[in-house]
Amino acid sequence: MSDSCCGTVAVEIEQFATPQRATSGQTSNLPVVVIGGGPVGLAAAAHLAERGIDFTLLEAGDRVAASVARWGHVRVFSPYRYNIDAAARRLLEADGWTAPDSDWLPTGTELIDDYLAPLAKLFSDKVRLGAKVTAISRLGYDRVRTTGREQVPFLIRLADGTELQARAIIDASGTYTSPNVLGASGLPAHGENEVFIDHALPDVLGTDRDRYEGKRVLVVGAGHSAATTLLALAELPDTPITWAIRAGDATRTYGGGDADALPARGALGTRLRVHVESGRITLLTGFFTHRVNATDQGIQVISRDPAGHEQSVTVDQVVSATGYRPDHSIASELRLDLDPVLGSTRALAPLIDPNQHSCGTVPAHGVDELAHPEPGYYAVGVKSYGRAPTFLMATGYEQVRSVVAALAGDWEAARDVQLDLPETGVCSSNLVEAQEQRVGLATGISGGLLAAPLPLTTVGASAESGGSCCG
Ligand SMILES: Cc1cc2nc3c(=O)[nH]c(=O)nc-3n(C[C@H](O)[C@H](O)[C@H](O)COP(=O)(O)OP(=O)(O)OC[C@H]3O[C@@H](n4cnc5c(N)ncnc54)[C@H](O)[C@@H]3O)c2cc1C
Repeated sequence: MSDSCCGTVAVEIEQFATPQRATSGQTSNLPVVVIGGGPVGLAAAAHLAERGIDFTLLEAGDRVAASVARWGHVRVFSPYRYNIDAAARRLLEADGWTAPDSDWLPTGTELIDDYLAPLAKLFSDKVRLGAKVTAISRLGYDRVRTTGREQVPFLIRLADGTELQARAIIDASGTYTSPNVLGASGLPAHGENEVFIDHALPDVLGTDRDRYEGKRVLVVGAGHSAATTLLALAELPDTPITWAIRAGDATRTYGGGDADALPARGALGTRLRVHVESGRITLLTGFFTHRVNATDQGIQVISRDPAGHEQSVTVDQVVSATGYRPDHSIASELRLDLDPVLGSTRALAPLIDPNQHSCGTVPAHGVDELAHPEPGYYAVGVKSYGRAPTFLMATGYEQVRSVVAALAGDWEAARDVQLDLPETGVCSSNLVEAQEQRVGLATGISGGLLAAPLPLTTVGASAESGGSCCG
């Protein structure tokens, strides 16, 4: 036994926690581990492959891009030219792949079939499916222990209990699997976990139609996902729709109508407003979800506002479209420096703040903005943005190009961050309108629904969460 400041420590435990003296060669022969096989994780793999750095990609799903697959029926509104990573393109083309039309706006399913799945195939067994990461640490080091820390490998534990080691970690595990709660204060509403609530973007005109048609449906949230779902639901006959928002009115979601700087955005809001004003959609404002009860009549959702006033609605289905948040719990034994508001790194937060930026105005950034006090761990992709809904694949691709360059020791390339987005933004309404004339929208809704990012630049501190450029 030996004494510490505040108690006696068992020698056995101390011996167990003391790592072997690290040498610089201890990690260099280990792979970089990429967590998540979505668009950004696979782009990281492409950059690692190009630079000849050994890697393993761990994907929780039974297929790559498992999260994209969950919104596979939704057509994105940035064209292919911004959705394909440069290194991935080079590798694929060298393999005989023909790039899709650069102006095409793919559905999530098309993005997987025509780009992400062929890309993953190039990496064969370096991509491990069904490999869910549950925890990351440093071999022999908890979060507190410092001396020699950066020389020891990362330790990655999977859901099946197996462990592997890595020289660095690129965490591209996204946020889609950690949606925001329904409760208005950021805490789950009472009873929220006891009833079925749809947190994804349901395919109400496709595979999920039976679950929604003819049912009373409540959609909670004021962002793009809510608007997408509401306009799709409005296509279903005999389906009463209620839309609940925290704000006192839906001005922000409606946008500026004919006077809106973005015509397609105005059109989205106008269409939603028409449905509300005609009574097709019942709008409940000042709705602060407090409790959810399963009753004989259906799911009762009760709002209690800060003054204590209550209102309630009873429905058959609830769609929670309140946005997403990052789950940093797998990295809780690492030293992270997180922005207290967004949950991104502190350096990144001002560059992506939805109070200041829309997705098209986020400046290029890379390894310096993504670095944590834990050397060698980088959260990238939509996870790196925390709760900011301003993420675009194109910015994620530049992130991983920079991070991988840094891991290769090429600091000049790592710091030469660039983002080639047109002044009009990546979400060009002209392109969407042109495509609609060709194929219509995957959602079956005509008129540019997905071309209409919501007005994030004017969002105030009390604005609804869940508004986003692209989701
Ligand atoms: C409906 C919708 C439309 C969008 N439209 C656009 C658009 O038009 N343009 C644009 O640029 N962006 C768009 N986005 C935003 C963004 O580009 C996408 O969300 C994109 O998929 C983010 O890529 P990612 O690789 O960071 O994360 P994800 O695609 O979420 O991938 C994360 C992967 O990690 C896996 N994973 C999660 N946890 C673990 C774990 N513990 N261990 C192992 N694997 C794990 C998941 O299964 C998933 O495959 C849209 C988003 C949504 C939701």
